[in-house]
Amino acid sequence: MALENRLTGYVRNRGDAFVEIVVEGKEENVKAFLKDLRRKKPPLARIHDVKTKFLEGKNEFDGFSILKSSGEAAFSGSVIPPDVSICEACLRELRDLKDKRHDYFFITCTDCGPRYTIIEGLPYDRPSTTMKQFRMCPFCQREYADPANRRFHAQTVACPVCGPEASLADREGRVVRSKDPIREAGKLLEEGSVLAIKGYGGFHVATATTKDEPIVRLRAVKHRSQKPLAIMARDLETIRSFAQVSQKEAELLTSYVKPIVLLKKSSDCYLSDLIAPGLHNVGVMLPYTGLHCMLFDKVREPAFVMTSANPPNEPIVTDNDEAVRKLGSVVDYFLFHDRLIAQRCDDSVVRVHGKDVSFVRRSRGYAPEPIRLEKAAGKCVLALGGELNSTSCVLLGDKAFISQHVGDVENLETLRFLKSASQHLLRLTNCKPDVIACDLHPKFTTTKLAKDWSDELGVPLVRVQHHYAHGVALMAEHGLDEIVAIVCDGYGYGLNGEAWGGEVLYCNGQGEFRRVGHLEPQPMVGGDLATRYPVRMAAGILSKAISVEEWLRSNNSHLPRGEQEVDVILQQLKKGSFPLTSSCGRVLDAVSAVLGICHERTYEGEPAMRLEAVAANGKDVLKLQPKVKDDVVGTTELVHRVFERRKVDTASDLAFSAQQCLVEGLAQVAADEAKRLGVDVVGFSGGVAYNEHITYGMRRFVEENKLRFAVHKSVPAGDGGVSFGQAIAAA
Ligand SMILES: [Zn+2]
Ligand SMILES: [Zn+2]
Ligand SMILES: [Zn+2]
Repeated sequence: MALENRLTGYVRNRGDAFVEIVVEGKEENVKAFLKDLRRKKPPLARIHDVKTKFLEGKNEFDGFSILKSSGEAAFSGSVIPPDVSICEACLRELRDLKDKRHDYFFITCTDCGPRYTIIEGLPYDRPSTTMKQFRMCPFCQREYADPANRRFHAQTVACPVCGPEASLADREGRVVRSKDPIREAGKLLEEGSVLAIKGYGGFHVATATTKDEPIVRLRAVKHRSQKPLAIMARDLETIRSFAQVSQKEAELLTSYVKPIVLLKKSSDCYLSDLIAPGLHNVGVMLPYTGLHCMLFDKVREPAFVMTSANPPNEPIVTDNDEAVRKLGSVVDYFLFHDRLIAQRCDDSVVRVHGKDVSFVRRSRGYAPEPIRLEKAAGKCVLALGGELNSTSCVLLGDKAFISQHVGDVENLETLRFLKSASQHLLRLTNCKPDVIACDLHPKFTTTKLAKDWSDELGVPLVRVQHHYAHGVALMAEHGLDEIVAIVCDGYGYGLNGEAWGGEVLYCNGQGEFRRVGHLEPQPMVGGDLATRYPVRMAAGILSKAISVEEWLRSNNSHLPRGEQEVDVILQQLKKGSFPLTSSCGRVLDAVSAVLGICHERTYEGEPAMRLEAVAANGKDVLKLQPKVKDDVVGTTELVHRVFERRKVDTASDLAFSAQQCLVEGLAQVAADEAKRLGVDVVGFSGGVAYNEHITYGMRRFVEENKLRFAVHKSVPAGDGGVSFGQAIAAA
């Protein structure tokens, strides 16, 4: 740009996240340059601020040069780019018969390609990436060294002569000879084969979307009977043929991140029902690498299932040998490439709330780009998150670096992943933690790891209550000093060891929080079993209003041990031997069971998600006034009324009414407390915030009460945002 504007001078990276540019020339050229800087910046460049100073001097420079960065640049924590989907220019070259990289699946440039997933250490130069195993050929080398070239200093530059190669292999990992392995793989997918395909941050398991049989097999691979599977569609137009796409959703789908976007299925959606059974949404993404684009070249299939390849309770598989070992018995073929993956990274999942993005899973394309805070933290904090859908977070100054999605940290494999992801973040940010933060739950594996770490480093450990972490995350994202936060999810360890999950909390920037309201504590008959089998939850709640024996016996087929189990439940109810929970998720589960929508939770949130799907076209027929006493929102009457009307009204209307009653009860308590305490913002966090009806309902209620409504915009509302909240709270 400087050359285009006939300027001389230099540019260099300073050590503190600033880029210093000195230009010399005519004033109008300098002004034009400053304009271009904003207008023509590369797509990935983020300009936070431009400070301009005019200097004295004359003919100081001969030309324009790019100076070597000062050494500290590596340690500023500012340069850990996330992976970026294939750019337009590369896509054009991929299709251009005359281009050297025609049909080359690993075509990238400075504007696109993997980043975080190939970085082993900083500075971000080729030798510290997994590209080091590929020696650049003279052609690539020339482009790499030419400042005027799009591949100038593109660490991923490669071509068919010198770069990674793709290969097709059978289930034992033996190479299947093919001139065109990628398009061959596409054809196999269309025919109904199940393939494991290596991508940027790990393997996907893939198959066709218009046939049931391969999806049944694929579900066996993942040990997932019902959990929705993400799909990758050929192009935007194709997506519109089976799902509704708003302008904002289209923008997200085609953005350089290309996340999975949750879309409403069209009424005439023709894809297999087994992709997202019982749900009104489907998670869709567009091809984001050259390889993905080529998969669709020779087929008519509109989309492929593309789900992270992770064995049950394990992180996504990244290594070729590991893939053969862990997936070989269940997939038909592998599509490999020979580039190593330094950091595993799952696809991100987002949805649109109003005009805003809301993160369900913040991972590929976003992590570990820092979240900027309005207030800088005085300490460096490492926070390890909760247990489910976990991430970790490094807080440094005014930046919070949240790791990629780690998953459910319940066993050794995921714990190891959490450990290495956290250590990698610490290395990249050059941060030595002054404080370690974790959940209040004494038995979480993350709590144990945090304790070990704090002992080892001799730094304090701060244990942060789960829902408070959710509330603080909201506060920090919006730069607030105080908030009344409604936090609804499945489970969090409460202050006195109780199970919480339908909370109204007052939080402020001085680290105080108070539980100012909550849902009525309800019996969880059989503890965790009540989470898995929502009939138990329903029985517990209903037993407070009626005799449940008859209903339970008529539902015995929904309990694994049938009649015998019913007897035990009735005994436990009689004796009152059960823990209590104020969880909002569990109430939704109970309603789901009463309405016969879902009887077994095979993945987190399933009964509530299916309930939301059924409620989608419903109306409020019950018009229940929520019972609120001493800031406790009653839920017994709600479940009981749904039970009574279950044969009179439609499931859709009753599901809607139940959700509406929870909205009004919680929002009422929050609004009243906010007014009493003189707080002007009411926020909503927790996994239940993914429910559209509930979130919009809360918004309406809160805004009608002349209060501001805050939802998450940069971190997930679910437990993927908890590490961020913990870090802020601990700081
Ligand atoms: Zn590119
Ligand atoms: Zn080359
Ligand atoms: Zn939570």
